Amino acid sequence: MTDCIFCKIVAGQAPGDIVYRDDEITAFRDIHPVAPVHILIVPNRHIGQLSTVDERDAELIGRMILVAPQIAAQEGILHSGYRLLTNQGRDAGQIIEHLHWHLIGGRRLSRIG
Ligand code: 5GP
Ligand code: ZN
Repeated sequence: MTDCIFCKIVAGQAPGDIVYRDDEITAFRDIHPVAPVHILIVPNRHIGQLSTVDERDAELIGRMILVAPQIAAQEGILHSGYRLLTNQGRDAGQIIEHLHWHLIGGRRLSRIG
């Protein structure tokens, strides 16, 4: 997807503070962090959102979640705790239509809801 900002960050065509990368997944710092640690974990391949994910993506999605504690350890928040979430659609406030998990931590977070 040529007009997708996250695809561009993955491809190195837009600036991104990348903290993790492998063949399938990239993680970079959110441009508007809501906490001392705010990282976005994305698939390298464009996937729009969780509601359109295919059974074939199950393994990739599992890996995106498994990479989170690795990044949390890198950031020094593995034991203090962190939140891992994805926004699906308008009511959740999804603004970027490239599947991503927010990894948020480094301070005590408010309860969700
Ligand atoms: P969501 O779609 O889940 O609501 O949030 C998208 C997130 O992407 C927001 O937290 C926003 O700050 C972040 N974001 C939007 N554009 C960019 C960008 O160009 N670079 C980075 N690093 N983050 C971005
Ligand atoms: Zn994309």
